[in-house]
Amino acid sequence: MPERVETEILIVGGGPAGLAVSSRLPDFVSSVLVHQDRKIGRPVRTSGGCWRSDMDRLGIPAELAHTVTHADIYSDNEHHSLDLSSNPVAVLDVTGVYRWLACGTRSDLRCGTKFLSTVRNDRGFVSRVRAGQQEYEIASRKIVDASGWHCAVLRSLKLCEPVDRTGIGIEYEFPASDHDPERAVLFFGSATPTGYGWAFPTTSAALRLGVGVIKPESEQSPKDLMVRLLESGALERMGLPEPSNYHLNSGILPSIPFESSLLFDGVIRVGDSANMATPTLGEGIRICIEQGRALGEALGKNTPAALLSWERSVRRRLALQYRIGFAANQRAASYAPSDWDRSVARMKTLPPEELIRFFRNEFSGGMIARRGAQALRRRLRAAVSRS
Ligand SMILES: Cc1cc2nc3c(=O)[nH]c(=O)nc-3n(C[C@H](O)[C@H](O)[C@H](O)COP(=O)(O)OP(=O)(O)OC[C@H]3O[C@@H](n4cnc5c(N)ncnc54)[C@H](O)[C@@H]3O)c2cc1C
Repeated sequence: MPERVETEILIVGGGPAGLAVSSRLPDFVSSVLVHQDRKIGRPVRTSGGCWRSDMDRLGIPAELAHTVTHADIYSDNEHHSLDLSSNPVAVLDVTGVYRWLACGTRSDLRCGTKFLSTVRNDRGFVSRVRAGQQEYEIASRKIVDASGWHCAVLRSLKLCEPVDRTGIGIEYEFPASDHDPERAVLFFGSATPTGYGWAFPTTSAALRLGVGVIKPESEQSPKDLMVRLLESGALERMGLPEPSNYHLNSGILPSIPFESSLLFDGVIRVGDSANMATPTLGEGIRICIEQGRALGEALGKNTPAALLSWERSVRRRLALQYRIGFAANQRAASYAPSDWDRSVARMKTLPPEELIRFFRNEFSGGMIARRGAQALRRRLRAAVSRS
């Protein structure tokens, strides 16, 4: 007979979402968290760009987040310098933050343990997991799918299709003590068709230089784009150092319309498996922590009403904003380099607060009205030029 572990809640995935859920479960609710990687926070699959205000609000220790007060934004022929002092960026020590989150878990944390599959029975679920060569079962009443873009639990139960549109990024992290530690860079255009590139200074005087693309719109691999970027001379134009002695981070996140059903009769999804990263920049960590903690609290109340209320609050908070952000994402993915030149030129006319709101995927009534008017003008211009 295989070993069988009994628990109330099985959490699959030890990224920020799963760890945050676990941290808010009360002691009387037993839980097991399985994480396929051998260590929390390794390998790094994200660039860790967040906002200082969010990290303070979420109680992330200040020394685990590096503050950035300005960003230079480039397209092929335009440049905009964005003052972030009203809302500074925080670049996380990703491994440090995830380990700090792990210190707060209330679960039996099992690293190097991969969730394989699950079946329902009348008491909940029996899941198979593998640790090294050994497979065993975990019986639970509920399962939290926090496995990121894999959606491992939902897919095992055929509750969702494989994600068919993804953002894929790679990043070189390397020592860069001469780089201005408060300066980040974002770049768009021919270096990163369909996606964007970034350079983030870190807590350890390093720089994370990354490029991301959207599949299937782009057939190019981020690796090839990175090679081309290094050969293109663009780094010199943007005042960025050549990477040397780097290590590679890479990751995938879903880039599909937000679907606000989060509860599936005992299975609950959160984080990237629920597509919670912002559609504008793919920023997910703060939302995973916030919504993961809220889900942990709802699970602790152990009533269907508490879970429904959590689902409703996520829907209220994200559904409309993400619909607007996803429209922007799709439009941007089809931009030619000349569109990016126009877009960066437009950024110069916006107050910094408005551009920051756009990057954060927080659209105010005024922004929505202005975007609607812009779209109308575009359609009118197209109709006039056709006639
Ligand atoms: C290239 C890139 C750059 C990004 N940059 C930023 C950024 O700058 N700022 C930001 O806020 N967000 C960024 N994001 C998004 C952010 O990383 C995600 O939104 C966030 O990590 C999602 O957290 P999660 O816990 O839902 O999933 P994940 O972080 O993906 O964690 C899920 C974990 O589950 C584990 N797992 C998967 N399947 C199984 C299984 N079968 N059994 C056991 N364990 C399993 C995985 O190993 C993984 O570690 C970026 C994403 C990418 C891809």
